[in-house]
Amino acid sequence: MSGWIAVHRPELTDLTSVRVRIDASPELARYLRNSVFEATYDRQIADVPPSILAIPAIANVAPVCWATGCELRLACVDATFLRALDELRAKVAEFYPALPCTTRVVAEEVRENRIRGQGVGLLFSGGVDSTASLVRHRAENPELVMIHGADIPLRNERLWSRALEANRQFAAAEGVVLHTVRSNFREVLDAGALNAEFSKVLLGRSWWAGIQHAIALLGLLAPLSAASGWKRILIAATYAQHIRRPHGSPPELDSRVRWADLVVVHDSNDLSRYEKIQKVLKPYFEAKPGKPTLRVCLLEDPGPLLNCGRCEKCVRTVVALLLAGMDPRAYGFPYHPGTLFRFRDRLLRGKYKFTVGHVLMWQDLQQHVPKGPPWPEPVAFFHWLAEADFTQIPYIWQRRHRTEQEAVSRSPVLRGLFTLKTLARRMVRGVRAIAFRLNQWVPR
Ligand SMILES: [Zn+2]
Repeated sequence: MSGWIAVHRPELTDLTSVRVRIDASPELARYLRNSVFEATYDRQIADVPPSILAIPAIANVAPVCWATGCELRLACVDATFLRALDELRAKVAEFYPALPCTTRVVAEEVRENRIRGQGVGLLFSGGVDSTASLVRHRAENPELVMIHGADIPLRNERLWSRALEANRQFAAAEGVVLHTVRSNFREVLDAGALNAEFSKVLLGRSWWAGIQHAIALLGLLAPLSAASGWKRILIAATYAQHIRRPHGSPPELDSRVRWADLVVVHDSNDLSRYEKIQKVLKPYFEAKPGKPTLRVCLLEDPGPLLNCGRCEKCVRTVVALLLAGMDPRAYGFPYHPGTLFRFRDRLLRGKYKFTVGHVLMWQDLQQHVPKGPPWPEPVAFFHWLAEADFTQIPYIWQRRHRTEQEAVSRSPVLRGLFTLKTLARRMVRGVRAIAFRLNQWVPR
């Protein structure tokens, strides 16, 4: 596709906030929902050079340029990040051959930068992966960073403040620094339009999961890294190294993100998610009186604890904790054995949107279930888990999903209907968001 996306020169709106205007040519305007990118940090960034301040906005839109093949016009950029963009584009082209990835980058001002300091940053949500990375790198005193606007939407102030409080207590107990970033980066792009157009070429994954999240999250840390004097940023691996499948945060992409003289480390992919619980979290936390809340739930209203205890990710984590001989209730999960059986029944009825990634995660857990008794409690669930065939699950959803995508791409009528469906979904989401806000205002 011809056309361009332009990232203008960053402006400081105060000592801790940056704003960047983003324009697109008419044929690309549908992918942008907001033409102003904003990020606010918990420390001063006024001395950070513009070529680094621009990185968060550039990192957020660069994947759109790769996916469409359009030109990326930059007012200013760090020289190392500019080289990284080219390598990332080439890797994304390998992962997703159907994307054009012919993007030409035109930069008016390119600056070499150096960061003073030897610090380490760690992207930290408080979940299993990032907590395990903290434990493994505890001796290096990594500075943790939580991002409001990533998995917790900006509008959900209540959940953010609860998650922040839990992580603050955890960071204080561990004696490490916790930073926060607040950004509208996910609201700049129109995820609905990008998903509708590219999820097929991203092999069924969403825009966020398939291409955006790691580079966008890492890019957001650029101003903070320069202000804090970091030489390395750790991003916890989602998958163990033996799992080779394209997604938005593989080691090949994460480790190519860099700016100034800072490098990014894709951390701990030598362990699976279960192994992180069993080999890292259990030995470290079981002896301590205070256990961390492992916030894994992605629901906007996860209930009184930070995990609902019922969704697929919560159940998967609860099962892993039980399998490792840990009490889920001590780590922030509401737990009743009946939840596991309800999950199993719903799973077998095809009620969950399982992807290949989910299957691999469950198969990893399954490998660690004893082949014979004694099984952990509840015995009947683990007996079933030991024998279950998860390869039968994804086809229920994936076949349906793929058929729908293929039909949509062939027929203009279905394309129109699909657009209407997307619009309807967006309206429902909007109404839900308003209802959610109103609910937050009700005095409690
Ligand atoms: Zn949940």
